[in-house]
Amino acid sequence: MRIVLVGPPGAGKGTQAVRLAEKLAVPHISTGDLFRANISRQTELGKLAKSYMDAGNLVPDEVTIAMAKDRMEQPDAEGGFLLDGFPRNVSQAEALDRLLQSEAITLDAVLDLEVPEEEVVKRIAGRRICRNDSSHVFHVTYSPAKQEGVCDVCGGELYQRDDDSEETVRKRLEVYHTQTEPIIDYYKSQGLVRTISSLGPVDEITERALEALKAEKAENK
Ligand code: AMP
Repeated sequence: MRIVLVGPPGAGKGTQAVRLAEKLAVPHISTGDLFRANISRQTELGKLAKSYMDAGNLVPDEVTIAMAKDRMEQPDAEGGFLLDGFPRNVSQAEALDRLLQSEAITLDAVLDLEVPEEEVVKRIAGRRICRNDSSHVFHVTYSPAKQEGVCDVCGGELYQRDDDSEETVRKRLEVYHTQTEPIIDYYKSQGLVRTISSLGPVDEITERALEALKAEKAENK
């Protein structure tokens, strides 16, 4: 399956993406994770991306699209993929369509995770991520680590993302509304969008997502 995951920052895209990718046996492709990996390796791309990310802005399309394309063309993504955080504006969505068309393939679904705005800020402000593996995510109140600052899964150090400060979160939300939300209408016109609530226990959201994706498959038959 080829799936795009959309939703505001703090909707739980990363958490759900890891779980869904495992269930559906496709690679999880997160442009945010790819940028963060470049930042840790101190590459030129990482240096460029960091300045935009820290301000809560989108990294320019040209470098983002090239990076995403390169990742989607890796052999493990041949049978499908789950895109998390890409596309993030209409011009990236159009670039993705062109890329898929050139390979004569199509998307199966766009999963839209909905969450109220007040919840988003609470979720992000308390979010703590493992330095070893960004899929190990905790929250100081909602899902605290057994030992403060230490990952329950692998013992790695937990940290707060530089772009998770309240000020940057507000900027990221504004960017989401103005630039990313329009891709939902873009994909609605292709009949691909499945919207689910991203409130409640993580397992339940995964179940809801899988149901929504099944419905999409059935309709496409
Ligand atoms: P994420 O981990 O998906 O929340 O992304 C973190 C940050 O990385 C975003 O706020 C952007 O600055 C940057 N980023 C991730 N994906 C994209 C994209 N598709 N286009 C532009 N910037 C992106």
